[in-house]
Amino acid sequence: MKHQALPTSAARSIADAVKRVVNPVGSPAVLKGRPRNSSEITKQFGEVDAIVVGTGPGGTSVARGLARAGKRVVMLEAGRDHRGSWYYGTPLGPMIYTEKRGFLRSKEGIAIVRPMLTGGATNMFAGAASGPPDWWEARTGINLGQEIEETIDELNIAVLPDDQMGRASQRIAEAGRALGQDWYAQPKFNDVSRCRVAFDCGAKCMYGCRCGGKWTANDFMDQAIAAGAALLTECTVREAIIEEGAANGVRGTHRGEPFELRAKSVIISAGGIGTPRILQNSGIADAGNKLAVDTNFVIFGVSEQRGNADESPMTVSYCDDEAGLMYSSLMQPWGLFSLQQILMGRQHWPKIGKFPRMMGVMLKIKEDLKGYVAPDGEISMPLTEVDMRRANQGYLVCRDILIKAGCDPDSIFWNPPRGTHPCGTARIGEHIDADLKTKFDNLYVCDASTFPDALVRPPTLTIIALGKRLARHLNADLSATSKTDQPAEAAAPVH
Ligand SMILES: Cc1cc2nc3c(=O)[nH]c(=O)nc-3n(C[C@H](O)[C@H](O)[C@H](O)COP(=O)(O)OP(=O)(O)OC[C@H]3O[C@@H](n4cnc5c(N)ncnc54)[C@H](O)[C@@H]3O)c2cc1C
Repeated sequence: MKHQALPTSAARSIADAVKRVVNPVGSPAVLKGRPRNSSEITKQFGEVDAIVVGTGPGGTSVARGLARAGKRVVMLEAGRDHRGSWYYGTPLGPMIYTEKRGFLRSKEGIAIVRPMLTGGATNMFAGAASGPPDWWEARTGINLGQEIEETIDELNIAVLPDDQMGRASQRIAEAGRALGQDWYAQPKFNDVSRCRVAFDCGAKCMYGCRCGGKWTANDFMDQAIAAGAALLTECTVREAIIEEGAANGVRGTHRGEPFELRAKSVIISAGGIGTPRILQNSGIADAGNKLAVDTNFVIFGVSEQRGNADESPMTVSYCDDEAGLMYSSLMQPWGLFSLQQILMGRQHWPKIGKFPRMMGVMLKIKEDLKGYVAPDGEISMPLTEVDMRRANQGYLVCRDILIKAGCDPDSIFWNPPRGTHPCGTARIGEHIDADLKTKFDNLYVCDASTFPDALVRPPTLTIIALGKRLARHLNADLSATSKTDQPAEAAAPVH
C-alpha cells in the first residue's frame, strides 16, 4: 500500500477537491484478472482450484489467501465495481448499488441495507472494528485469536487520533461516562496513511469512502487479483453443482446468460441473505430458517453546537452486554436523513434545517435469530415485544446522554429501525462444521451467515478472521489433493 503525506497547501487542497469530484479514490488501479466470461476463465486457467462466490470481507479474505498460495481462484460477484464512477460515495451511490435502491424491507417492514457491488457491504460500513463476543469460542469451537491479531496489524486497526475523533462524538462519550457508563474509543478500519487525498471521514463514508482512508474488501479483492485470481462481475450464482455428495462447480447467470463453471472447491460468501438462497438451491433446504440483522436505531438531539455529521461515524462506543445493547456515536449522512424526513411527512421537514447542530447516537439491540430467508426470496424480520422493550430502554439511555451532552430535551427523536448486519442463516454447528464445510464435500461457507447468533457488535473483523482461517485450511487440503492428482501449475494472471 502506497503511503502519501497529507497535503498542506491550498493548491493541494483544491487539487484534492477536484480529484474527489472526478476521480474518487478507490477506483481500481489494476484491471487485470477480469475475464469477460466463464469460458474465457476455463480457457486461461484450465482447471480451477476454487470458486469464491461474493466479494465481501468473507469471500475476499479466502480468495486472497488461496491466490497468494498459488491456487487458481475465481471470484464471482453479482454486482459491479462502482469505485471509479462519479457517483460512488455520493447520496446517489446507494440508490444504484444497494438492493431495491435502498428500499429493501422485511415482510414486517424493517429496512434492510444490502449493498450489491464488489467489496460487498464494507463499501457502506461505518468502519468500526471489534473482535468476536466472549461466547464465540465456546459456541463455535473456533479460536480466532491469531487471525484477529494478524488482521489488526495488517490493516492498522486502531482508535483514531484525538483530532479525528470528533468534538461532538467526544461530548457524547463524556456525557455517557458522567452517567456511569464505560464509553471507550472504538478501534476503526480507517487509517489516514491509506488516503490518496486528504482524510475526509464523516457520516458520508457510509455512501462509500471517497478519500481512501477506509479499508474495504475491495482492497483484498485487488490483492487477490494481483496474486493471480480472476474476477467475474455481474455474475449471479444460483446454486452449487453437487454430484455424488460433493460440490464441483456452480451455475448461475452472467449478464443474464446462463453459465456453468467447474472447480475443486466452492466457497459461498454471498452474505447473510445471498448465501442461504444459494444453499437452498443446492440441496440444503433448511439454510435461512433463521436470521438476525442487528436491528439498530439512531437517536437524535439538537444542541447549540455543531453536531457529529462531519465526524467519522462510531469513534466512541459503549456495550451493555447484560442489557443486550450497544451504543455508538453516529449520525446519518445528510442526504439519507433528509430523504427519510421528507418521506415521513410534512411535520418532520423542519428537522432538516437543524441537521448541522444535530447529534446522533446509534443503538443496536440484541435480538434472537427470529427472522428467515425463504426459498421464494421472502425475508422475514419481525420486531418482537421483547425487542421493543429493549429498544425503549436503550432510547431512554440515549436521551439522557444527549441531554447531558447539551441537547434540548424537546428535540430528541429516533428514526425507524434498520438492519445492517444480516447473519446467522448458515450457522456453525448446524449447517456447517468448525471448518466451515457443509454436509457436501468441497462446499464451504464463509461470511456473516456462519454466525451461530447475532454478535451485537461490528462483525467484519470476525468475518475476515474466519476467511483467513479457511484459506489456511483449504490451502492444506488443496495441496494434498494436487499431490495425489497432478502437480498444480502456478495460477497465471488473466489479462
Ligand atoms: C450501513 C452499514 C454500516 C455498517 N457498519 C459496520 C461497521 O462499522 N463495522 C463492521 O464490522 N460492520 C459494519 N457493517 C456490516 C458489514 O459491512 C457486513 O457485516 C459485512 O460486510 C458482511 O460481510 P459478508 O462477507 O458476510 O457479506 P457482504 O459484505 O454482504 O458481501 C456479500 C457479497 O456477495 C455478493 N452476492 C450476493 N449474492 C450473490 C450471488 N447470488 N452471486 C454472486 N454474488 C453474490 C454481494 O453483491 C456482495 O458483494 C455495516 C453494514 C452496513 C450496511
